[in-house]
Amino acid sequence: MNKIQMTTPLVEMDGDEMTRILWQMIKDELITPYVDLKSEYYDLGLENRNKTDDQVTVDSANATLKYGVAVKCATITPNAARMKEYDLKEMWKSPNGTIRSILDGTVFRAPILVKGIVPYVKNWTKPITIARHAYGDVYKNTEIKIPGAGKAELVFTAEDGTVTKETIHEFKGPGILQGIHNTEKSIESFANACFKYAIDTKQDLWFSTKDTISKKYDHTFKDIFQNLYDTTYKAEFEKLGITYFYTLIDDAVARVVRSEGGFIWALKNYDGDVMSDMVATAYGDLSMMTSVLVSPKGVYEYEAAHGTVQRHYYKHLAGEETSTNSIATIFAWAGALKKRGELDGNNELANFGEKLEEACVKTVENGKMTKSLSLISTCENPVILNSLDFIKAIRETLDSLL
Ligand code: NAP
Ligand code: MG
Repeated sequence: MNKIQMTTPLVEMDGDEMTRILWQMIKDELITPYVDLKSEYYDLGLENRNKTDDQVTVDSANATLKYGVAVKCATITPNAARMKEYDLKEMWKSPNGTIRSILDGTVFRAPILVKGIVPYVKNWTKPITIARHAYGDVYKNTEIKIPGAGKAELVFTAEDGTVTKETIHEFKGPGILQGIHNTEKSIESFANACFKYAIDTKQDLWFSTKDTISKKYDHTFKDIFQNLYDTTYKAEFEKLGITYFYTLIDDAVARVVRSEGGFIWALKNYDGDVMSDMVATAYGDLSMMTSVLVSPKGVYEYEAAHGTVQRHYYKHLAGEETSTNSIATIFAWAGALKKRGELDGNNELANFGEKLEEACVKTVENGKMTKSLSLISTCENPVILNSLDFIKAIRETLDSLL
């Protein structure tokens, strides 16, 4: 069989632990036998991030700006335990945070729906796509541990020297302090990305924040969305018969649970982080959620929404068999190949990405799956496969589709 040729490289960001193991299996079984893979490889594994003083993460994001499409493996965000485990020079920041702050943009996360896997929320018959703002707030915070009594102030010095000052709190004893920010530019591009994605996919757009409590910070998000809707998108939305709907986040949470799905739910950075795990799990499984960062600079980064599956990795290291679901990571590859194909006018490549997704869904629908999927599938006699055999089963389905 002749391999599919590529004209422009993909940016390939390798990662950590169990997903790094899956990454290699996916490439060996599902990508390189079919595609003459052109990729610019960046090793974002924690060891190499530490070795390069995290420069590799910055380089991979810049390469994404250059080439336009990246596919990323899950990576460890270091904490105190990881400092020890990997003997780190520094507690490096979240690679996703670093990449997102360079690319800006919005993360869209949608569940992969498969027959036989029924959502925990029975009325969710259509996917809910979470649009997560990918810049600022607590992900770009500055924090202080306050040792004792004193006054905390919020100070802004304008370029012309004008100072605005607010008292945050008069501490009587030890405490904690955090400064966060966002920019109108980033919020606007977030809102634009959401409205455009809603139009592209012909789905309603919901947006929610805590504007009643955060009367300036969150309220600015609300105002920017409303203003853009009124001035730029209203006519198009009305033509398509879709709606833009703002509601307080607590109200939104209640409505989402009662809904049938089929809309985009736009959320601030932290809310989107938390809600996407909730929504993914409620659709059946955290490992069945796709994620794509859409940047206003016109570039795309595809990944799985789940983490490095640490617990499975330790089993793997101990020589035990694992049954880790690779579907979301395969979808990341498929999404990146489809987008690369679309941007390069390479139909063969785009079609391959499509078939790869189809092969994942069909394999599960035919009763072959990983352990966690078998626990929630209505399939009568599921065949439970280990990590590699599941990928091989997908390959078999893929061969039957090509
Ligand atoms: P996780 O890797 O998402 O895994 C949490 C649990 O969810 C697993 O222990 C497993 O449950 C289940 N799970 C997740 N993905 C699965 C899959 N593909 N197949 C089967 N089961 C799956 O989250 P974590 O353990 O909290 O985080 C581990 C590391 O990932 C952390 O260092 C964190 O920083 C990093 N992380 C990275 C990203 C990213 O790069 N995008 C995102 C989140 C977290 P069972 O153990 O019960 O089987
Ligand atoms: Mg998260």
